[in-house]
Amino acid sequence: MEKILRVGILEGDDIGHEIVPAAVAVAKAAAALHQVNIEWVPLPIGRRALDTHGNTLPPETLETLHTLDGWILGPIGHRAYPKQANAINPHPILRKQFNLFANVRPTRSYPDIGCIRDDIDLVIVRENNEGFQPDRNMLMGNSEFRPNDEVTLSMRVITRTGSRLVAKAAFELARQRKKHLTYVHKDTVFKLGCGMFVEECKKLALEYPDVRVDDVIVDTFAMRLIRDPQNFDVVVTTNMFGDILSDEAAGLVGGLGMAPGLCIGNGNIAMAQATHGSAPDIAGKGIANPYSMIESTRMLFEWLGYSHSMPQAISMAKAMSAATTEALANPESRTGDINGRGNMASMVKAILEALR
Ligand code: ATP
Ligand code: MG
Repeated sequence: MEKILRVGILEGDDIGHEIVPAAVAVAKAAAALHQVNIEWVPLPIGRRALDTHGNTLPPETLETLHTLDGWILGPIGHRAYPKQANAINPHPILRKQFNLFANVRPTRSYPDIGCIRDDIDLVIVRENNEGFQPDRNMLMGNSEFRPNDEVTLSMRVITRTGSRLVAKAAFELARQRKKHLTYVHKDTVFKLGCGMFVEECKKLALEYPDVRVDDVIVDTFAMRLIRDPQNFDVVVTTNMFGDILSDEAAGLVGGLGMAPGLCIGNGNIAMAQATHGSAPDIAGKGIANPYSMIESTRMLFEWLGYSHSMPQAISMAKAMSAATTEALANPESRTGDINGRGNMASMVKAILEALR
């Protein structure tokens, strides 16, 4: 019996209600062409789930996720949620429950869409579950303290295990690409935290003698990302540096609409999640760029194809990539944020046409 992939659809908030259905439509068309059997499982999450299920992450959603091979998660507009216990940001919970410790964020240039260079093709692998994020640390509930009204302490968690896991994911990716890995940190100042991350990267480098390794301080990297991005391939870094640098990288290739991502761990499960937020300013207008979500979804199927040994899912991902590249070349169909005269619907239509 041919394996059936069970894939969740979690729209999220704001433009999530537009770009997630767009990504699913493209994936469905590509799956039909390549005979990939998919059972799509829509699940409530976010603001709408608060209204219908009394919780932004209903327990039944979480339960069903445990039975899936992967899912597509739209952006979450948690900053607009009411301040109440059942209106939480689901992101950190999902990443932790499923141990999705690495966030793979590619950046690549396409012609004429406003990229600063036409030869950018790099991937930032961001640690996903540790670092400075106040609501995310594994070792304590809340890692910001205000001992008195004049002083605030923010703690960052770095662990050997977390550093090693994300670095290993990055080395594996480097091996599949140009065998070049750059680790980015600030161990000159954060001697213990960044120091531990660097120690683990260096130890792993001994296990990957075929991968060329570069060691770059984060401020230098921020500058070099603009001056010579073509000299980087796979980049691994800690949580907050990765968050900032991947937005910077997106800026080099047309902005946040061009910023896809895939959250992965040690198992076969993966979560497609665009790098950007829910963009409430453009929600409901039909002008959001669906690329980030479509490309995140493509990455999910490529990942599932390799991890479940399903060559047809890998072919499906290749077809999605070719069709998207073709659609991006047409200024009439692509969205305004990338020098186009079209909108989301025209871009999706162009991708579907290119697929056929
Ligand atoms: P978060 O804290 O969740 O990352 P943010 O403050 O960084 O959110 P975003 O929602 O990511 O903000 O987006 C910033 C702006 O970028 C949006 O207001 C929107 O104008 C633009 N933007 C984001 N995503 C897209 C997209 N897919 N298409 C077009 N424009 C987008
Ligand atoms: Mg942001």
